[in-house]
Formats: sequence, C-alpha cells, structure tokens
Amino acid sequence: MQGLGEPLNADFNGDTQRGVGFYQFMNRYRKRSSAADAYISPMENNPNLSVQLHTEVIRIVLDGNRAVGVEYVDKSGARHIAHCAADVILSAGALVTPKILMLSGIGPAEHLIGHEIPVKIDLPGGGQHLIDHPEVPISALANGPYGYYKKGVGWRMLKNGLLFKLFGSGPITTAGVEAGAFVNPTDPESPPTVQASPPSERIKRIALPSPDDLSDDALAEHCKRFVKTNYHPASSARMGADGDPMAVLDAKLRVRGIDNLRVCDMSAVPNINAGNTNAPAMMIGHRCADFILASDDAA
Ligand SMILES: Cc1cc2nc3c(=O)[nH]c(=O)nc-3n(C[C@H](O)[C@H](O)[C@H](O)COP(=O)(O)OP(=O)(O)OC[C@H]3O[C@@H](n4cnc5c(N)ncnc54)[C@H](O)[C@@H]3O)c2cc1C
Repeated sequence: MQGLGEPLNADFNGDTQRGVGFYQFMNRYRKRSSAADAYISPMENNPNLSVQLHTEVIRIVLDGNRAVGVEYVDKSGARHIAHCAADVILSAGALVTPKILMLSGIGPAEHLIGHEIPVKIDLPGGGQHLIDHPEVPISALANGPYGYYKKGVGWRMLKNGLLFKLFGSGPITTAGVEAGAFVNPTDPESPPTVQASPPSERIKRIALPSPDDLSDDALAEHCKRFVKTNYHPASSARMGADGDPMAVLDAKLRVRGIDNLRVCDMSAVPNINAGNTNAPAMMIGHRCADFILASDDAA
C-alpha cells in the first residue's frame, strides 16, 4: 500500500488513523487477551464477584420503573432471579442487549405490543440503528509461499510449537491479521487504481472478483453476493442528548426512564467508529465503571 502512495502509520490509534501499518493487539503473555482474561480472571478470589457460566439472561426484573435484578435460565433450563441492590449493568452486546430490554418492556411500544409484551417504557430507538462494518473479500492466489503458508504442518509445526512453548515467540503468537491500512476511497478526485505494486508482485492471479469482468455491475453483484459482517455490531441502544427521541441511554449509559439500569457495551455508541471496535468496547467499560463509582448510590 505504501507503493500506492499511502503513508506509513506507526500508530493507527495516534494522531491520525490514515495510512498503512501494523495492528495493535490486546495481548498478554504472547496470547490474545479477552476482557474476561484481563478483568475477571484476576478477581476470581474476590468475594464480591460471582460468575455464573452457561446461563442466559432473559429479562430485567423491574419494580415499577426501577431495575432490581435479572431473570436468567441455567443450563438445565431452570429459571432464577438474581437480585441487585444497586445498578443492573446490561452488557450482552449490540445484538442481544436491545432484545433483553425489549423482553423487559423497554423499547419501541408498537413493536412490543405486536409481540404482546407489556410496555414499561416507550423508547423508539431500542433495537434500531444497528450498524456494522461490512466486509467484501478480494481473494488472490499468491505466486509463492509467503506469510504463514505451511507453518502449521510437518516439521514446521513442531518447530513453531516448540518456539511458542519454550520462548513464547514465533508464528503461533500471531492473531492472523498482522497489518492493514485505513484509506479514504471516497475522494472523488483520486484516480482509480487497478494494478498496484508491491502486492501485485506477489500475486499469481486474482480469484475474486473475477478479473474477466470488473464492470460496475459485476462488482456490485460481487459485493451483494459476498458482503458479510466484520463482527462489529454497534449502536442498537444508543446514547443521545436529552430531547433526542431515538436516544435509549443518557450520556452516563443509563437507560432513559428506568432507574438503576445501565447498558455497557457497543450498543451504546451513537455511531460506529471508523476502526476496529474492541478497544472502544473496553473504553465503554472503563467509563461505565467511572460513572458508577462517581454516583451517589455506588454499592
Ligand atoms: C470473530 C470476531 C473477531 C473480532 N476481531 C476483532 C479484532 O481483531 N479487533 C477488534 O477491535 N474487534 C474485533 N472484534 C469485535 C469485538 O470483539 C467487539 O466489538 C467487542 O467484543 C464488542 O463488545 P461488547 O461488550 O459490545 O459485546 P461482546 O463482546 O459480544 O459481549 C457480549 C457478551 O454477552 C454475552 N451474552 C449475550 N447474550 C447473553 C444473555 N442473554 N445472557 C447472558 N450473557 C449474554 C455474550 O456471550 C458475550 O460474552 C471481533 C469480533 C468477533 C466476533
């Protein structure tokens, strides 16, 4: 991509995002670190923490307009209620959080009535405005054994396994996607570029989309056929200013019209960021913790 004139960017999360460079990863001890690894595992002996695995929250339990717990199903199918004296924090992700709110009577009234769910509070924005980063592949056959090709078979597998076990290094430490580029192709002044060096030097042939037909219609058909989620769902229970009829949350992640209920996941963002979404999800968790600790009713 530098060959195309895109600048090298040493830090996509720095002053500017544009350019080509290496991704940053949430790694620990040479392995990818999840939120559970980073935040929950270190607290496993804390008596204030109780984790229930293999359970599914069904709805928020409300006393009037105050959240007082959650109803959940355990792996045997038995239903339970977990009571909460302080805030209930809903963090089921942008696909499920609005569903749990709606099952609790919190969402667009018309939609809830259509499903015979008693309306607790009419929030027209609940479950609306889901947004993602769509992804369309361009696949090519390489003209040589580049990257991690065959690193996981035969003697290379043994070597790389030992490298990882003994030194915590080698190709096993990769997250699979090492580098990328953030570009702005909407610039109508940019000339279209079909052949690009240096990637073209390593490509035997393009497999998808078919190089035999690169017309606008063929490219549109390719996009329709292969477009997929990039696993970045967001904004389905978004925060907004007072007076915004589509705002589900206020600026401190509190569900409007319901006491003691916050949403703490990517559904809360007003709009999706122009980049990967894991770090913003972590940021929301940090901000939510700050809001709770700063509130008068923090437990
Ligand atoms: C395959 C994949 C690869 C990704 N790669 C990257 C990447 O490389 N870089 C990056 O920045 N982002 C990446 N993302 C995106 C990133 O993981 C998400 O943006 C981020 O995890 C969103 O956080 P969240 O808290 O909103 O939701 P989630 O992380 O989805 O958390 C929601 C949690 O709620 C649980 N849950 C759901 N329903 C219920 C229920 N009814 N009861 C109880 N629990 C429930 C889920 O099991 C889950 O643990 C990737 C996502 C996926 C799926």
